[in-house]
Amino acid sequence: MAEHFPGVPRIALTATADPHTREDIVARLGLDNAEVFTTSFDRPNIRYEIVERDQPRQQLLRFLSGHEGNSGIVYCLSRAKVEDTAEWLNTQGIRALAYHAGMDRSLRDANQDAFLKEENLCLVATVAFGMGIDKPNVRYVAHLDLPGSVEAYYQETGRAGRDGLPSEVWMAYGMADVIQRGRMIDEGNAADDIKRVERSKLNALLAICETASCRRQAILAHFGESHAGNCGGCDTCMKPVETWNGTDEAIKALAAIYRTGERFGTGHVVDVLIGNVNEKTERFGHTGMPVFGAGKEIAARTWQSVFRQLLAMGLVRVDHAAFGALKLEEGARAVFKREREVFFRKDRPASERRTKKVARAERRSVLSGADDALFEALRAERTAIARSLSVPPYVVFPDTTLIAFATDRPRTHKEMLDISGVGQSKLERYGDAFLEVILGFDG
Ligand SMILES: [Zn+2]
Repeated sequence: MAEHFPGVPRIALTATADPHTREDIVARLGLDNAEVFTTSFDRPNIRYEIVERDQPRQQLLRFLSGHEGNSGIVYCLSRAKVEDTAEWLNTQGIRALAYHAGMDRSLRDANQDAFLKEENLCLVATVAFGMGIDKPNVRYVAHLDLPGSVEAYYQETGRAGRDGLPSEVWMAYGMADVIQRGRMIDEGNAADDIKRVERSKLNALLAICETASCRRQAILAHFGESHAGNCGGCDTCMKPVETWNGTDEAIKALAAIYRTGERFGTGHVVDVLIGNVNEKTERFGHTGMPVFGAGKEIAARTWQSVFRQLLAMGLVRVDHAAFGALKLEEGARAVFKREREVFFRKDRPASERRTKKVARAERRSVLSGADDALFEALRAERTAIARSLSVPPYVVFPDTTLIAFATDRPRTHKEMLDISGVGQSKLERYGDAFLEVILGFDG
């Protein structure tokens, strides 16, 4: 392409690309001697949390209970799950609307419009939602299904906290996701080399899910950026994950795959390890094998976690052409020979999740001294104005400005103008209404 336009100035722009992709863009566009500018991928106001999926709806509810009064997005993979989840959230007292590409256009637009204008609204959506949406005060993004790559995860979670205020992103995932995503790649129409890239991008995300160290560091490393770790803003930093030397267990797990002929999925291999006598283990004669019951001292759930981590470590893979059978990878040999030790992260019991009370206290600390009650009164005023004008609340004033109002308590027009987000025209339009709330507040 470059040779057709000699001497014409060119610029290539990309929002989310890892170093390999950036090099590829430069090469293909013939921008060999071009300067490359990249800004940091870090989003310091976003807090990351990734949990093992156990009871997804209850886990989601617990996460959302820390976000009363806030708006956010819940991403699901399928349209049916979007609708079911939205409906269920409403029965739980959480105002939720659905959004996906298969909906009637006018309803979809109405739901999107409501999300932009209202606060305290949960939008349950497929990834069709989000492109070009620039709502600055999305306070949370939740994933009920695993995205297909680190890039997709980064983009979708990046819709939270564009106003720079603290925001939380949360994901629940399990082995079923990994298998489903892998199958989507394998059954797709892409060329083999593209499929290989897609598989490695999925594995990169899996590794971030299973890491025992700082998630922010792992995400940034994917984009070629170094971070010292210990960010204090991800679940593994806030509550360090314990690891355990699982070399013996890894050998048992790999042996169970090998001895059963690399023909079975995780569920069956776990049954063999814990010695579960059922129709399938009997029919294939697995109950008589030495490996049968060799791991019965460990719970099935822990074995599931072991297999996810072996997958993330690249020691095993899932063969979708063989109905999800686990197969050994080259690296497994070194583990068998005990040339390589294997450490696993210890999954947390579900009961250790954050409670509502903790989340509320965190939100108060966000206001750092600002009067919470005044902030709420200002927010109510903003909602009323936004409704009467039929515009999104942040168009009136963003949260950052309301927080400054609540902290600094301006008493005159002149003092209001000193606050970031207040210009002459906004002052004329809304200044008096907010001044009245501040002056009338004796807190
Ligand atoms: Zn961290």
